[in-house]
Amino acid sequence: MSERLGRLAEIPVTELKGVAKRKAQALEVLEITSLLDLVMYYPRRWSDRTAMSTIAQLVEGVDASVHGRVVSSSARRLRGGKVMVQAVLVDAGGGGGAGAASGRSPRLSVVFFNQPWRAGQLGEDVEVVVHGRPTAYRGGLQMASPQLDVVPAAQVAQGELSQATRPSPELSSPELCAPVPKTGRHTGRIVPIYPLSERSGLASYEIENYVTAALEVADSESAFADPLSVQRCAELGLVSRSKAFHDIHAPSSWVDRDAARRRLAFDELWRLQVALVMSKRAAMAASRGISHAASGNLVDRFIASLPFALTDAQRRAIDEIVIDLVRPYPMHRLLQGDVGAGKTVVALASLLVAVQGGYQGALMVPTEVLAEQHHVSVNRLLTELTVADEGRLDGRRLVTVELLTSRTGSAERERIVTGLASGTVDVLVGTQALLTDDVQFGALGLVVVDEQHRFGVDQRAALRDKGASHHDPDVLVMTATPIPRTAAMTVYGDLDVTELSELPPGRTPIQTRWIDDEESEVQMWEHVRAEVAKGHRAYVVCPLVHPGEQQENADGAQVVDAEGSQAALPGMSGSGAAAGAQAEAADAARVLRAATEEVERLGGAELVGCRLGLLHGQMRAVDKERVMAEFRDGAIDVLVATTVIEVGVDVASATVIVVEDADRFGIAQLHQLRGRVGRGKLASSCYLLAPASEETPAAMRLRALERTTDGFELAEVDLELRGEGTVLGIRQNGRNELRLASLRTDRELIVRARSLAESVLDRDPDLSEHPRFAEELRLFVRDGDAAYLFKS
Ligand code: ADP
Ligand code: MG
Repeated sequence: MSERLGRLAEIPVTELKGVAKRKAQALEVLEITSLLDLVMYYPRRWSDRTAMSTIAQLVEGVDASVHGRVVSSSARRLRGGKVMVQAVLVDAGGGGGAGAASGRSPRLSVVFFNQPWRAGQLGEDVEVVVHGRPTAYRGGLQMASPQLDVVPAAQVAQGELSQATRPSPELSSPELCAPVPKTGRHTGRIVPIYPLSERSGLASYEIENYVTAALEVADSESAFADPLSVQRCAELGLVSRSKAFHDIHAPSSWVDRDAARRRLAFDELWRLQVALVMSKRAAMAASRGISHAASGNLVDRFIASLPFALTDAQRRAIDEIVIDLVRPYPMHRLLQGDVGAGKTVVALASLLVAVQGGYQGALMVPTEVLAEQHHVSVNRLLTELTVADEGRLDGRRLVTVELLTSRTGSAERERIVTGLASGTVDVLVGTQALLTDDVQFGALGLVVVDEQHRFGVDQRAALRDKGASHHDPDVLVMTATPIPRTAAMTVYGDLDVTELSELPPGRTPIQTRWIDDEESEVQMWEHVRAEVAKGHRAYVVCPLVHPGEQQENADGAQVVDAEGSQAALPGMSGSGAAAGAQAEAADAARVLRAATEEVERLGGAELVGCRLGLLHGQMRAVDKERVMAEFRDGAIDVLVATTVIEVGVDVASATVIVVEDADRFGIAQLHQLRGRVGRGKLASSCYLLAPASEETPAAMRLRALERTTDGFELAEVDLELRGEGTVLGIRQNGRNELRLASLRTDRELIVRARSLAESVLDRDPDLSEHPRFAEELRLFVRDGDAAYLFKS
């Protein structure tokens, strides 16, 4: 049986004619060792060689390809340390178009930022094909960060890649077109351009040759035999796998290329969804869950005791969770809800389901500040609630909530640990350090992880040891940041998802303004003083703790600045990205505000007379707690802080937040920070302080925040700006990565892949009736996972 994709993985590239040791080594640099790697080494883009322009034909703002020759190049260091490489091109291939006659042939400038190696690449007389959007530059045209391929010397000599054969569709007048060359392998068709590794030393056309040869072998081995039936393909609107593999590399039209991409993307998504659904079901089968009792009225009493009515969304979420809790399988559910949607109440109701059945609950949060706050608010919400206790004379006792952090004194710790073991502590609030601690629960039944969606397999395993008589506790994970539903389906595909899609009523929408000039800044501080005068409270957030330091981050994740400074972000026009890179290069030297300094400065200037407090991650826990308490109680009017306040902090009378150097924060972070105000009925404002800029990624982030307060919508923008990689994170590894599928544009495919995976596995749980596909899964899914999937 060789009708399978796996066959190609068994054939090394060296079996192809022309691939000797040296070329094989070069391919290995690109992580290509087998024919499967080759046919799956998809083009980075495709060049329509029917549409090549001369420099004279270029129109400002219209994307075009030019075959040029370098006449000069230079590199220089910009302020802030970034390197700019600039090269000047003339038309290659003789003619040079209309300009040649007038003495000086037209020139095109190309620039690259932060790619110093370009200087070596763009030597004099090197021929290149660039593709990009020309912008006006010193009376001529410039392409910033264009796509660029060096034309190999061999092809230059043969004149293969010279000029166009036909006018491109945009160019209607024929005399504007470049001279028509005789023949050439690449003329008149859509040519794949392969991603090249500088180190590999292979040209795109060489890879193209190897791919063509590999496709021939694949055909002779029937390796592209389709695991989907013809009928299924028709239903899903997919071309056959064989056609897809051919057309992705050498399409005869853009329509064919798109259809090929769709099919191969579907295969990626489908494999991933089958793996996710299988591992979810395997985990369920392997686990010993707790069947919580739905009887008892503790939850009802709790809901009745709240000072507000639940929203419909909260009710639905609680119902969904209770159904999970009653079932004998451990729940693993993600609760996605926007900032201020009221997730805490849902978490508490869930914890009380466990408590009323005699189990314990744990509420884990990312920071100690948040743990302390939760402890206060949970105690407030649970006052006077009682549970049955046979050891008591009256048969009841109050629900007990304890806080355990790194600063809990040893005597206190001793008392809590004893209570946990004996079962007199019902709910424990703490950070995730609880997991690694020696703390033992008597009967842990439910763990809620707040503001932290990445709660991995390892952490879940650690929980098992803490569960009641080695049962797996149920797990409810609550997001810090919602992501689009289909993205969640892929990124957290082994979780069930509940959405809290509604804010409690009576909230006045937060007014958000980007402040980029001094006059508005003066008015802004005036507004802050006015709010304080009314007895309201304000936050001022700075990126740094001390001057000149690294940017601080609430949960130790990487600093957002790294993301902001990428020159070319997906979804952005070439020129915009370049302008952004320029602006950011100029801006890199800007001095960022530090909380310790800002609190002094504001106290003697804009906020003189207000009572200011300082909060940052380097303070001692005891001081943090004291400051938070003073702020909550109103002894402090304005809290000058770093992002330690990013998540969860809940002070309803806070009505203004000022974020300084707001361009240095990511969308999700700014949205979370903004969520610190507008938590009650009072009208609130959010000011984002950042220098004016037009097309930087930061500008797009700030404008998005001004435009909407909807976390889901912002999540879309974030995905758009940052690309999938950052969202997918751990899912991007090895063969199983998503090379063609996109979380942004392939939503419909994700949903179809998910439902196909579920319906196939419903009928054939171990894929024994789908051997070809089962083998394919083994081939693609990481080794560790595969072992897990096919344990039997
Ligand atoms: P988040 O989802 O961001 O964690 P919280 O749980 O902290 O939000 O809730 C935000 C605020 O809204 C809290 O002060 C909480 O008491 C309040 N709240 C929660 N649910 C409701 C509701 N149904 N009606 C009114 N206020 C609510
Ligand atoms: Mg919360």
